[in-house]
Amino acid sequence: MIDVAVKLLQKNNYKITKQRLSLLEYLSHFQEQYINVVAVDKYMHSIYPGMSHNTIYRNIKEFEEVGIVEQRIKDGNASVKYQCDFVHQHHHHFICTHCGKVQEVEMCPLDYFEKQLPGCRIEEHHFELYGLCADCIKLSKD
Ligand SMILES: [Zn+2]
Ligand SMILES: [Zn+2]
Ligand SMILES: [Zn+2]
Repeated sequence: MIDVAVKLLQKNNYKITKQRLSLLEYLSHFQEQYINVVAVDKYMHSIYPGMSHNTIYRNIKEFEEVGIVEQRIKDGNASVKYQCDFVHQHHHHFICTHCGKVQEVEMCPLDYFEKQLPGCRIEEHHFELYGLCADCIKLSKD
């Protein structure tokens, strides 16, 4: 699974350093769940004490730019997750408010909104769905 990400980094002329590989490996465990960037920084710093926070944050940002991770800012806190769909990088999420599980939603409502705003250009959009995932609903019924 990491192979796709490594290829993406190479394609964008990033060197595959030991640090980038560790970061990649770590983040790949968070495909269904967001993790706070502060926690990622803490983890990386624990393995590479010599690595500056700036470098760690920059690496995370590079991953985001390349599309390896998806970023989310909520209440001023940045969190990231491993890309759930490398083929359809632009997609949206359904997030379980109980367990935090993230599921991909393929449909993008942008066209729908553009039709309602003739002459305007939408430059950015964030669209997330919240609720209970199937597992959590099942658990609550048992
Ligand atoms: Zn996603
Ligand atoms: Zn859930
Ligand atoms: Zn969209």
